[in-house]
Amino acid sequence: MSRLQQTIRGALLMDFWSAFALGMRYFFQKKATVNYPFEKGPLSPRFRGQHALRRYANGEERCIACKLCEAICPALAITIEAEPRADGSRRTTRYDIDMTKCIYCGYCQEACPVDAIVEGPNFEFATETREELFYDKAKLLENGDRWEREIARNLELDAPYR
Ligand code: SF4
Ligand code: SF4
Repeated sequence: MSRLQQTIRGALLMDFWSAFALGMRYFFQKKATVNYPFEKGPLSPRFRGQHALRRYANGEERCIACKLCEAICPALAITIEAEPRADGSRRTTRYDIDMTKCIYCGYCQEACPVDAIVEGPNFEFATETREELFYDKAKLLENGDRWEREIARNLELDAPYR
């Protein structure tokens, strides 16, 4: 074996062992990634995910149809229609959010005087069609019913900072 060949062989061996040592070091270290969707990272109580309309504990809708959320939405994503009920209270007859327009600014939640419209913790709501992202009142109330426990907990955790 020539001197040049010996030098190349030595260098390759050194490279191999240093790469092997590096691989072993990272193999036993705590992983920086998570095995999504089986594992999920922590979420801030202020995380702004899928929208939801909330109810009171007695099942009554919180929303009083003041339309502040509709007025403040910079993306014009919210459409509300409202009528007085027989008991004199004012409630929405239509509450739509076009999620394809929404920019997740959170202004609707900030403007709401009764914590009715919120951005919940759900971030797994991708769809295959645009139409599925046109949320109506029934869909938003359903989201609220599904996530109420987490939403209430997050609002409570965030309350001291508001
Ligand atoms: S998060 Fe912002 S853009 Fe989305 S509906 Fe609320 S106000 Fe509109
Ligand atoms: S969700 Fe809140 S801000 Fe929007 S109309 Fe209802 S009460 Fe008003």
